Amino acid sequence: MLEEAGFIWSNRYTEFNLGDSHPMNPRRLIVPYELFNSFGILKATDIQIFTPSPATDSEILLFHTQKFLDAMKELSDDEGGYQLNLGLGSGDCPVFPEMHESSRLIAGGALEGARRIQNGDVKHAFSLLGGLHHAFSERATGFCYYNDAAITMKYLQKEYGIERILYIDTDVHAGDGVLDAFYKDKSVLGISLHESPQFIFPGTGYSNEIGEEDGVGYSINMPLYPGTWDDLYIKIFEEIIPCLWKSYDPEFVIWQCGADGHFKDVLGHLTLTTHLYQYLGKRMAELTENCSAKGKLLMLGGGGYNPDSVARVWFASFAGVTGLEIPIESPIGWIEYCQKEFGIRASVNVHDEPIDPKRIEQHVLIEEANNQYLQVLKEELRETTVWNDCNEILKE
Ligand SMILES: [Zn+2]
Repeated sequence: MLEEAGFIWSNRYTEFNLGDSHPMNPRRLIVPYELFNSFGILKATDIQIFTPSPATDSEILLFHTQKFLDAMKELSDDEGGYQLNLGLGSGDCPVFPEMHESSRLIAGGALEGARRIQNGDVKHAFSLLGGLHHAFSERATGFCYYNDAAITMKYLQKEYGIERILYIDTDVHAGDGVLDAFYKDKSVLGISLHESPQFIFPGTGYSNEIGEEDGVGYSINMPLYPGTWDDLYIKIFEEIIPCLWKSYDPEFVIWQCGADGHFKDVLGHLTLTTHLYQYLGKRMAELTENCSAKGKLLMLGGGGYNPDSVARVWFASFAGVTGLEIPIESPIGWIEYCQKEFGIRASVNVHDEPIDPKRIEQHVLIEEANNQYLQVLKEELRETTVWNDCNEILKE
């Protein structure tokens, strides 16, 4: 049965355009939106569409510095300008006229979702263009300017007095900006499962990065070796996540469900399929239901740079969360739209063909490497509260 859910969308989201040849271009957003649309999801009675307002200065300042906010505003009106010490004007984060306005609309989207959930309008909400997890308080990086997730968590703490938020990030890149924002703080349990930083941006997110001071044990980084496939991912997920979740008992959950772990993504090197994302959606919803959050789950789209796979991954993730059945075939209208508008050959089926791990090159090595990463993580967490509590729960 479909759970009541919110879908956050603004036609102005496409103004967040880092360039037509930049991986973060509107195609990777419009193609997924059209898939949801073609399936009639946006008209379903159990889905409410919410249009966000841009985040205000004071909301942005819950996380970002005044200096960064000022620079974002000033440079948006200054074509050709840059401030590389703030990350603005780099190849990854170019300066463009709608930079400030479109970024604050994205932050507004996550805030809208959080408010709607918190006020009881819907149980779950999905902000398609959200999860810009690399942005730091004083610096843009990795296609991210304002960190909608960090802003929203600060907002939930301030406005609703929420004491325990669980942030889980399954984007192929480590959720460095978000985890850093709460690195010394146990009011957020930040969990990131990602391709090992040995092979991919941002170069941090190793298993020994577990937080500092009060936050020790409340940052969890689980690197994955290139090539990691669905079942191996699930094995690792089940070994650590439910346990931490139960022990922390969050009051609100945010899932950054980046689609760039998909095997057809152009930046990541994992071998994940849509089946995994449907599974993750289902598990996120179950785990969120069975804790103090009582189902309060905000999904943020995150990365993903092959429009066809982003569309199907996000659809599978949302279907997993809401219990929506996934049709076998992609809508003809959507396939034609992708071809006509963008020259993209979209997949005829929504789900991928399952991939046989034995056909993945070096599959034995991949499994061994992941086991090693996991052992390091467990060793690091051995003396920490969340992990110890977690082992106690398992013993019961
Ligand atoms: Zn990513």
